[in-house]
Amino acid sequence: MANFNIDAKRDMTYDAIVIGSGISGGWAAKELCEGGLQTLVLERGRMVEHIKDYTTMNLDPWDMKYRGALPTELQKKHYKAGRTGFIGEDTEHFWANDEENPYTEVKPFMWARAHQMGGRSLLWGKQTYRWSDLDFEANAKDGYGVDWPIRYKDIEPWYTYVEKYAGISGEALGLPQLPDSHFLPPMELNCVEKEVKQRIEKDFPGRNMIIGRVAHLTQPHNGRGQCMYRNRCGRGCPYGAYFSSNSVTLPAANATGNLTMRPYSIAQSLIYDEETGKATGVRIIDSESGEMMEYYAKIIFCNASTLSTTQILLNSTSDRFPDGLGNDSGELGHNLMDHTYRTGAMGTFEGFEDQYYKGRRPNGIYIPRYWNIDDKTQSDKFVRGFGYQGGAGRDGWGAGANQEAFGADFKDGLMKPGPWQFFITGFSECLPYHENKVTLDKESTDKWGQPTLAIDCEFKDNEKALNLQARLDAKEMLEQVGLTNIVDFDNEHEPGYGIHEMGTARMGKDPKTSVLNATNQVHAVKNVFVTDGACMTSSSCVNPSLTYMAITARAADHAISELKKRNL
Ligand SMILES: Cc1cc2nc3c(=O)[nH]c(=O)nc-3n(C[C@H](O)[C@H](O)[C@H](O)COP(=O)(O)OP(=O)(O)OC[C@H]3O[C@@H](n4cnc5c(N)ncnc54)[C@H](O)[C@@H]3O)c2cc1C
Ligand code: SF4
Repeated sequence: MANFNIDAKRDMTYDAIVIGSGISGGWAAKELCEGGLQTLVLERGRMVEHIKDYTTMNLDPWDMKYRGALPTELQKKHYKAGRTGFIGEDTEHFWANDEENPYTEVKPFMWARAHQMGGRSLLWGKQTYRWSDLDFEANAKDGYGVDWPIRYKDIEPWYTYVEKYAGISGEALGLPQLPDSHFLPPMELNCVEKEVKQRIEKDFPGRNMIIGRVAHLTQPHNGRGQCMYRNRCGRGCPYGAYFSSNSVTLPAANATGNLTMRPYSIAQSLIYDEETGKATGVRIIDSESGEMMEYYAKIIFCNASTLSTTQILLNSTSDRFPDGLGNDSGELGHNLMDHTYRTGAMGTFEGFEDQYYKGRRPNGIYIPRYWNIDDKTQSDKFVRGFGYQGGAGRDGWGAGANQEAFGADFKDGLMKPGPWQFFITGFSECLPYHENKVTLDKESTDKWGQPTLAIDCEFKDNEKALNLQARLDAKEMLEQVGLTNIVDFDNEHEPGYGIHEMGTARMGKDPKTSVLNATNQVHAVKNVFVTDGACMTSSSCVNPSLTYMAITARAADHAISELKKRNL
């Protein structure tokens, strides 16, 4: 007769477990499955199948009850992330329910989450930039945070590797502070952007303006279709034309026959074996039945997104790790970062009234960082720097929405495009401050009885000085290139709005001051890997997700080779 307990344990045992199926988890799953490992992906949200579950992807405004706006009854469900202004009737089903997933804002913090197969890979803006040694050396040079244990040369081949598979469009510039990716053809600047680019580059030597580098296909690639410029990406793309886990990495993982996906599985903590010094598995709560279960594996990849990964590690206590798994340094939960943005200027461009653009290009312009990149560009007011995103477009009929007018002339006027407007907004680097942190709030539990996170984070003087410079420079550039009606702005916001939360389980050379080593292994528990934003040691000023992809592929390669050598 079979021994049921042994069989049951065997059924729950895999070579690898990946927690989370978003941008980084999708890459971990693909690489580990392709490396021959039987891999279980634990995802707290529901299943979302590519195309089949993109229920709003082809709806027009008139097909929706509220024409795309978020109705009052749903605003309550999104009472935190709704503050971003990104959530509409057409996309709200891809955003996490804030009522069911509470957190404590010790200081104001906007935590934007997406709980489903694919995570935020379905919602992200696709802006995709490599980091450079300016970023990897920054902490060592100016003394904030600890030194990264890797440099650009360590990650460069992995950038190329993920870019070739994901498909990144953009223009090569040869700038040391913003290394070029392996590019598909760039999207095109419109006529006003071309003109502004020329004037900025002429009048401000050292400043460049390019089309955004994005994870959108500008030509068919690996069986996926090219972008049709519909700008409806947040609903899921029927052509698979932007990078998401659902359209790219999870199907590749699945094709190996080595993937098991388990939605509705909330990873609660890691199971630690005091004898071997290894993690042996993951405790989960089945969110449908409420049942607590255990899954086992030789290696565990934590990819639940920055703060959720740290929440799981803090929750993973044992005699050896009373303050959270791998927390010998006391740094777990600390050094939380984000980017600041919403600081810049806008104005009217007079001219080109006879020209327009075709389609809704899901992309804008980018002005790479130009402060503190060499001796000539040093600031005495701040360290690090910022880059700008923005773009030009013509006012549409909506510009007449608040006019007190009626009649044929008014209607005819609305049919004509309005003047060209141009704007830029800076994205500034945030320093890693030890006191910007998350802790477990055991007094406040969620609907599954689990402690929630308390987030205690604020921007400080350096971020404020960067923001001020971004505003002044934006105004100066727009004035110099001849725009009119210029408005400069600093729509101050709390951390989290950048949706680039990073840090809280940083990589480092010294186990006394960091949580992870140079290959993303928990220093004291080498079979646990953290490769989402929690691992970041500094924040750069460019969007981070491409770096998570490259770091994940690199760590997965290391994990597979260490497993083969029986080192894990
Ligand atoms: C509107 C928007 C625009 C953005 N624009 C850009 C951009 O232009 N460029 C850029 O680089 N980045 C951008 N980002 C950020 C980008 O989406 C994130 O950096 C990226 O998705 C992080 O990947 P991740 O794998 O760490 O986490 P996610 O993609 O968030 O995935 C985490 C997954 O883990 C699951 N999970 C969480 N907790 C648990 C648990 N306990 N157990 C099991 N599963 C769990 C979640 O349900 C989710 O599926 C944007 C984000 C948003 C929302
Ligand atoms: S704009 Fe392009 S990537 Fe976005 S949904 Fe449309 S076709 Fe897909």
